[in-house]
Amino acid sequence: MFGTQAHRIRHTHLFSADTYECSACGQEISKNDARCPRCGSTLQGEDYDPSWVEEAAMLDMILGDK
Ligand SMILES: [Zn+2]
Repeated sequence: MFGTQAHRIRHTHLFSADTYECSACGQEISKNDARCPRCGSTLQGEDYDPSWVEEAAMLDMILGDK
């Protein structure tokens, strides 16, 4: 797995800034990282994981707003 190609997975959140994750090992990375600091994969491209949708659904559940 060392030195392979991976991409950034972008997580968007309701109440916090976007976070990025290495698709190879799941390490949280910086938006500008060209290479994962943990597994060394080259990070090319970006995938989008709309975490805020789940967070919004959770919030609906908590508020009981139906
Ligand atoms: Zn990695």
